Amino acid sequence: MSSSATALSEFSNPNLEPLFTAEQIQTRVAEMGAEIARDYAGGTPLLVGVLKGAYIFLSDLVRSIDLRLGVEFMAISSYGMGTRSSGEVRIVKDLDVPVEGRDILIVEDIVDTGLTLSYLIASLHGRGAKSVRLAALLDKWERREREVTIDYCGFRIPDAFVVGYGLDFAERYRNLPYVAVLKDPNA
Ligand code: 5GP
Repeated sequence: MSSSATALSEFSNPNLEPLFTAEQIQTRVAEMGAEIARDYAGGTPLLVGVLKGAYIFLSDLVRSIDLRLGVEFMAISSYGMGTRSSGEVRIVKDLDVPVEGRDILIVEDIVDTGLTLSYLIASLHGRGAKSVRLAALLDKWERREREVTIDYCGFRIPDAFVVGYGLDFAERYRNLPYVAVLKDPNA
């Protein structure tokens, strides 16, 4: 790689407006994990991470939940490559295990319109889960179209397109250690 390419920092890209620092996120995620551990004490919840956006949140969250638990992943498509939901929800990767009789905790990066989560929660109930709860790092509450109960919420955020800590724009910025508003998607 050339020296000019390595000099460009992705983490301090001027098109990003930091919203939550890595430290703020770590503190909040640890609190959420402790609360989840208390609530599920004596149980063996199955955490279902929604790919790809929740992968970093999930990996930090599970290390703060001192319980016997399982981890599975689903992939759901609703955005394509843009910054607005298409409204169409599709399971791209399904669970590898049955959920019947299990206490399910869905782990999601962000709840926006709520279309994805209301669909997923209904789908897991329909498969006979004993309980279905939701942990979401970010709640873009102003844009809600479907009512969704977020049992464990990291931060409420304004209506802006955010990236980092697993969240992408066209597959970019997932590796930021913090969450930022993307100022100009066309830049
Ligand atoms: P919903 O179905 O609630 O409208 O959208 C949920 C999904 O849309 C999230 O899992 C996430 O993939 C995507 N999404 C919604 N808002 C944002 C955002 O501000 N930034 C990014 N990167 N993805 C978002």
